[in-house]
Amino acid sequence: MHLPDRHSRAFSPVQMLENGLNMHSAVSIGFRQHARPLLVYILGWGRSGSSVMANILGSMPDAASLGEMRYLWDRGVMEDGICGCEAAFSECAFWPDLSFGAQPLKAMDSERARALTRSIGSGARRRQFPGLHNERSRKTYFDRSAGDLDLLMGLYAEAFERSQSRVLIDASKSPFYALNLLYEQRSFDVVFLHLVRDPRAVLHSWKKRKPREDVSEGQLFPRYSSTRSLLQWAVVNAECERFAHLAPDRYYRVRFEDFAENWQRALATDAAPLFEQVPGGRGGENSRAALVHAQHSISGNPARFILGEVTLDPNTSWRDEISGTDRRLARMICGPAARRYGYVMGAV
Ligand SMILES: [Zn+2]
Repeated sequence: MHLPDRHSRAFSPVQMLENGLNMHSAVSIGFRQHARPLLVYILGWGRSGSSVMANILGSMPDAASLGEMRYLWDRGVMEDGICGCEAAFSECAFWPDLSFGAQPLKAMDSERARALTRSIGSGARRRQFPGLHNERSRKTYFDRSAGDLDLLMGLYAEAFERSQSRVLIDASKSPFYALNLLYEQRSFDVVFLHLVRDPRAVLHSWKKRKPREDVSEGQLFPRYSSTRSLLQWAVVNAECERFAHLAPDRYYRVRFEDFAENWQRALATDAAPLFEQVPGGRGGENSRAALVHAQHSISGNPARFILGEVTLDPNTSWRDEISGTDRRLARMICGPAARRYGYVMGAV
């Protein structure tokens, strides 16, 4: 499969080491030592910057990003999509030998993968998942899915072992998929990092033509109307916020704009218990710069293929480009929540 030119310019970790560069030289914060392995689950709505955040977190010492695990079965096993390491899923050095129960992923047939997509993966509809606050539907879901959830936890545990990482990042974002992990903390702990972005910037992004580079050439990401993306923003972020009550000591919220402006300061401020200073950093020279290396990441925004020294872009072009109607819609649909997150939305 042809990938754009910038991929060939990207540094692999091996190249960086051969060039005498330390992979982590741009990092002056890292994950705090934790007694047990730690899974950091990024919550949020699409186009909030989660792919670049996952790459940066996964490039920290002792950490790795798995990408969007909820797509493992469809975009990974079934579609054989491109992993963040730039190999097809079936040829990646990490995923095919991981096991789901007694079976390695490479031996899984598409019927089983399709069933997992529907039951515990990306295709699981909201009504199939437990309501975030409905005990009965939650119990039904967990009773019905218990066997597969057990195997899924085993898969995550094996991913820790195979990646030799103490911290793994799951950028699935979905608050519904996150319920798979909420009550399951057997051999590792799970924390939730809710990433929010200005709804007007998100609306602007969903309207753009955006190529998908992980499946086949010429395929585009879906485009959403203003109303649809704003409604989704409001609903999904409200569901993500429920984790502040479901797991109050494991929930953190970061604004994309703060992260893009100075990612180390944003993480150290808004998710302080997770991070600490690490020696050898050179933070402060350029607060938007980060050194990123390839991750074995499932699915995600094409940004996950941009490696080496990256400079975060707060991307404020929406300010000049969205219409007055879209601004009014954003105020009406997302105003109260957006103001709580600190965005200046103007008069209603
Ligand atoms: Zn890979």
